[in-house]
Amino acid sequence: MDEWDSIPISRLSHAGYCLRRAALLTNEQLWAESADTAKGRREHDRVHDERIEKRGDELKLYEYSVFSDELGISGKCDCIEAVRDEAGCRIPAADFPVRLYPVEFKHGRVRDEEEYEIQLCAQAMCLEEMYGTSISEGAIFYISSHRRLNVKLDDDLRRKVLETVKQVRRIQQDFLIPPSEPGPKCERCSIKEICMPDAPTSAEKYCERMRKEATGVL
Ligand code: SF4
Repeated sequence: MDEWDSIPISRLSHAGYCLRRAALLTNEQLWAESADTAKGRREHDRVHDERIEKRGDELKLYEYSVFSDELGISGKCDCIEAVRDEAGCRIPAADFPVRLYPVEFKHGRVRDEEEYEIQLCAQAMCLEEMYGTSISEGAIFYISSHRRLNVKLDDDLRRKVLETVKQVRRIQQDFLIPPSEPGPKCERCSIKEICMPDAPTSAEKYCERMRKEATGVL
């Protein structure tokens, strides 16, 4: 996998929220800070401290780098819980076989957000490929409310991961910016002012400009 071709796993989460948002971030590296994202990053940064904790038959691996050559994605897991299991896999950090359980940290209260589940499942799929194992469940931990939501990594969710990877890849290769679909999610979106979801022609104009800049044909 070429480093430049690799899709950041966090981008899949953006795409699960809104494909246009993922496209704007991918194609022009746009980012506008909102109170929500700033708070999220601060809380997130506290757990982004690469380390391994060992306690008996259990390890916790924080900010663990993962990748999948097959999917062309890479990123970091906030935390992987690795518990001794004779039917599990071998990882460099443990001298016994382990069962892996990825945990993604999010700020705020518990919400049923599919994009978080897509991100978590993509991390698990990377780990499966890296260590030749299978992972049936992971969790999303909501930092502010200290609540943990278990997530089944079933076939349906795995299909969504594959579909999202395909969509982001297409956006990246073809410089696509999908039209906006204004809705309640726009109110919480940190790039609303750049996106202008209610201006119907902005996407086409933006796309045209990007293509011209990329090809040098003005
Ligand atoms: S403002 Fe709405 S349409 Fe635009 S990127 Fe955000 S969520 Fe998507």
